[in-house]
Amino acid sequence: MNPIVDVLIIGAGASGAAVAWSLAETKMRILCLEQGEWVKPADYPANGRDWEARLWSDFALHPNQRANSADYPVNDTDSAMKVANYNGVGGGTILYSAHMPRLQPSDFRVRSLDGVADDWPIDYTTLEPFYDENDRMMGIAGLAGDPSGPPREPPMPPMPLGRTGERFARAMNRLGWHWWPSFAAIATTPYDGRAACINLGHCTPGCAQGAKASVDITYWPHAIRAGVELRTRCRVREITTSAQGMATGVVYYDHDGVEHFQPAEVVVLACNGVGTPRLLLNSASSRFPDGLANSSGLVGRNLMMHPWPQVRGFVDDELDGDHGPMMALYSKQFYETDRSRDFLRGYMLALTRVTGPVNEAVTSAAAGQLPWGADHHRVFRERRYRRRLVIGIGCEDLPEVHNRVTLDPELRDTNGIPAPRLDYIIGENSRRMIEHAIARAEEILVAAGATDLFTSRTVLNTPGHLLGTARMGDDPATSVVNAWGRSHDVKNLFIVDGSVFVTSGGVNPTATIQALALYIADQMKRRLADLFD
Ligand SMILES: Cc1cc2nc3c(=O)[nH]c(=O)nc-3n(C[C@H](O)[C@H](O)[C@H](O)COP(=O)(O)OP(=O)(O)OC[C@H]3O[C@@H](n4cnc5c(N)ncnc54)[C@H](O)[C@@H]3O)c2cc1C
Ligand code: SF4
Repeated sequence: MNPIVDVLIIGAGASGAAVAWSLAETKMRILCLEQGEWVKPADYPANGRDWEARLWSDFALHPNQRANSADYPVNDTDSAMKVANYNGVGGGTILYSAHMPRLQPSDFRVRSLDGVADDWPIDYTTLEPFYDENDRMMGIAGLAGDPSGPPREPPMPPMPLGRTGERFARAMNRLGWHWWPSFAAIATTPYDGRAACINLGHCTPGCAQGAKASVDITYWPHAIRAGVELRTRCRVREITTSAQGMATGVVYYDHDGVEHFQPAEVVVLACNGVGTPRLLLNSASSRFPDGLANSSGLVGRNLMMHPWPQVRGFVDDELDGDHGPMMALYSKQFYETDRSRDFLRGYMLALTRVTGPVNEAVTSAAAGQLPWGADHHRVFRERRYRRRLVIGIGCEDLPEVHNRVTLDPELRDTNGIPAPRLDYIIGENSRRMIEHAIARAEEILVAAGATDLFTSRTVLNTPGHLLGTARMGDDPATSVVNAWGRSHDVKNLFIVDGSVFVTSGGVNPTATIQALALYIADQMKRRLADLFD
C-alpha cells in the first residue's frame, strides 16, 4: 500500500496547481494524482505546419474527438453545448486562450441585486488579494485603469493592440462604448523563466515559446520545488470513506491499469465542473448512496457553460489575422443588469483576432462565403484571409437545476469507470440576452467597416467553461461545500475548481477559479488544526 499523505489533490489543472503551490509552504506531505501526462513544448502543434489540422485530432478541444489515452469520454448528445477540456498536467490551460478577466463585485450578489439565482457566501473583496496573487503567479499582461471594474495592477505591460485591435478600438470609440485591452496570461516581457510572446501564431493548441501561462510552466515548477509530489497517468476511480463518514483516500488506476489505494488525511478535488461531480457520483457507497457529499442532491446540478455566440465580418484591408494571441480587446459595456432590457444580468464582448488559413477556408466555405472553382483562390486571398473580425460573446447563464452532470448508464472510460453525461439547455433569459448581444456585435462590425456578416448563435464546443456543479453556500440544504470549499457532509473533503461557482458571471472564469483555489488554500492553512479533527 502507498504511504499515507496529508493532502491528496486530484487533478493538475488550473485550480489543482494553484492549491498545491499555496499549501506547499506548510511542508505537509502533498501528493497530486493526475490522469494525464506532462506535455512537451516540442510536441505542441504550433511547431509544425499541420498545427491547424491537429486541432481536429490529438489537440482537438473535445475529448471524444481527441481520444488520447488520458481522456475520458463524455456523453453530451443531449447538451446544447459541448465540453471543451484538456486532460494532462496543466488541464484546460494547455488549450485556453489565456484571457483572464475577473468577475465584477455585482456577480457575487445576483439574488440581492436582481432577485434571481443566489448570492455567493463570499464577495469580491474576499477574493481580491487572491486575484492579485494569481496575477503575479500566472504573469498577467494588461493595462491598469480599466474603468469597468475595481483597480487591477498587472505585473506586465499589455499586449500590442495590433491591426485588429486598433480597428475594433476605433469602432468602439465611434459608438462611445467601453473597451479595454485584454488582461492576458501571456508574457509581454521575460517573466519567471518564461520568454516573451513573439506574436507569431495561434495560441490555442499550446504555446511552445512558453509565453502563454499554462500552469505546467507557472505554478507546478514552484510547487514541485517546494516538495509537492505530482504523480501522472493516475486516474482516480473513487474517493473512499470511513465508517465515521470521513474521506480515507482514493482508489486509482496507474498507466498499466493496475489498481492502487492511496490513503490521505485530506482530499482536495480539482477535476473541473464535469470531472468533479463525476468522481463524487462514482464514489457512492452504502453510507452515501446518492454519491459523496450529495446530501443536498445538488452534486452535478446547476451546470453553467456560458453560451458563446459569435458574429464575424470581413474588412477590405489586410489585418493581422492569425498573428498574435487571440484576444485583442474586451468590453463590459453591456455587462450589468439594465431593467430596460428584457433579460437580467449581461455579457462581455470579446473582440478577437482569428485563426489560421485552413480554418478560414473551411468555415467560410461552409457558410457559403467562399466560392469553389476558378474564383476560389482569388476570393480567399483578396476578400477573406486576414480580413476577418470576430466578436465572441460571453453570456452569463443562470444556474438551473435541470442543467446537470450525471453518470452515463453505458459509456465508460478505458478503465471501465462510468463516464459523465450532460443534460443542458439554454435558458430563456440567456436566449433573450443572446439576441441583444448579437445585434450589438453587428453594430460594432458595421462601425468597423465590415461586410458579409455571419452569426453563429451557439458555438458548440467552446468556451470550455464548466461551472456550478458543486456550489458553495452557507446552507447544507442548498449547497455542496461551505464558504471555504469544505464539503458540508465530509469534513476532510474540499473542492477548489469551477464546480463551486454559485453564478457564472459573463466572463472567462479561470482567474476566478484560481483565486478561489488560493483563497480556499489560505483558509485551510489558517485552520490547520481543524483539518485533521
Ligand atoms: C479551448 C479552450 C479555451 C479556453 N479559453 C479560456 C480563456 O481564454 N480564459 C479562461 O479564463 N478560461 C478559458 N478556458 C477554460 C479554462 O481552461 C478552465 O476554466 C480551467 O482550465 C479550469 O480549471 P480547473 O482546475 O477547474 O480544471 P482543469 O484545468 O480542466 O483541470 C482538471 C484536471 O483534472 C484531471 N482529472 C479529471 N478527472 C480526474 C480523475 N478522475 N483522476 C485524475 N485526474 C483527473 C484532468 O485530467 C485535468 O488535468 C478555455 C478552455 C478551453 C478548452
Ligand atoms: S502568439 Fe505569443 S502566446 Fe501565442 S503561441 Fe505565439 S508566442 Fe505563444
